[in-house]
Amino acid sequence: MSDLYPSHPVTIIGAGLSGLACARFLQDAGIESVVFDRGRHPGGRVATKQIAHKEDLHLFNHGAPKLDCFEQETRDWLARSGFDALTSSDELVLPHMRSVPARLAEGIRLERSTHVERLVQDGNHWRILAKRYKESDLVSQVSSHIVFACPPQQAMRVLKASSLRIPQELEEIHYDAQWVLMLVVDHADREALPRFQDDHPLIESLEWYENGETDQIIVRMRPDESTNHYDTDPEEIKDLMIRQIHDALDGWVAPNAIQASAVHRWGLARARQHIAQSCITCQKDHISYAGDHFGGPDGTWKDADAAILSGLHCARSIIA
Ligand SMILES: Cc1cc2nc3c(=O)[nH]c(=O)nc-3n(C[C@H](O)[C@H](O)[C@H](O)COP(=O)(O)OP(=O)(O)OC[C@H]3O[C@@H](n4cnc5c(N)ncnc54)[C@H](O)[C@@H]3O)c2cc1C
Repeated sequence: MSDLYPSHPVTIIGAGLSGLACARFLQDAGIESVVFDRGRHPGGRVATKQIAHKEDLHLFNHGAPKLDCFEQETRDWLARSGFDALTSSDELVLPHMRSVPARLAEGIRLERSTHVERLVQDGNHWRILAKRYKESDLVSQVSSHIVFACPPQQAMRVLKASSLRIPQELEEIHYDAQWVLMLVVDHADREALPRFQDDHPLIESLEWYENGETDQIIVRMRPDESTNHYDTDPEEIKDLMIRQIHDALDGWVAPNAIQASAVHRWGLARARQHIAQSCITCQKDHISYAGDHFGGPDGTWKDADAAILSGLHCARSIIA
């Protein structure tokens, strides 16, 4: 660990699986950390959204519906973190997936709804400047080491705003933003739905869940260049998505019914390729990078394995 330890905590940007794995590992090693996430709940792409329809509240897993844990190290770590169902399976499925990050975040210092904007080098430590949702004053946090545990585009945006060097590996990673729409419809209307084709040009999958008199539908749109913007106002894309899904379902769901439900605001990005490393740690700058774009030494880790293992390896490399 740096010579600054233990005077300042490690700052972790992102409370997805990778950031939480990193924070928990540091905590077990007796190292203080603070995790910032711009979202209201921890979990990032492991999330469950709540939608009101008529009198009822409906819950949707709109990111990962399960965690694929093919690596023994992931399974062991999750089992130690309280998810022992994994001892006999290589996937973790819970009805409300957000309970996974919620449990992983227990005991972690987490600053929710707080968007990290830039970093300033201040002598031999970092000052992190972040903005809380709906507040104008910046939050400032002094730190000995920074971990970017978020997709590269979001890390690069902070690095650019801070006039800091961007690691070349991050620049080469491509992400496709996938849009997810969540609909609630009356069960009686089900028969009227046009038959959904697997090779539909716009829709990748349509998952249907019966729930008493109502049905819940999760529509995952195909990644599309026209909607693949991290920087565009999500409300603009939302309108486009609603029109597209309305057309794709032959007008079966009225646009206002779609409007009554939700579109995930930021798109749910998935990396097209992986960096064949466990994480990046620059000991000189005291900045590290974790996330599911790290494929491990052989480049074979994916999704939950990649996120969790890169977070753990990143924490280990900070302590080393
Ligand atoms: C539709 C979909 C289906 C999936 N299905 C599966 C599956 O079946 N099995 C499986 O194993 N995996 C699946 N995955 C993948 C899995 O969800 C991800 O690999 C994993 O959740 C990524 O975790 P992460 O920590 O790397 O990133 P993220 O979950 O993206 O976390 C990054 C966090 O950083 C925060 N953040 C970003 N920028 C800032 C900033 N400037 N300031 C503060 N906070 C910031 C974000 O709010 C976010 O919470 C799926 C993903 C998607 C999108």
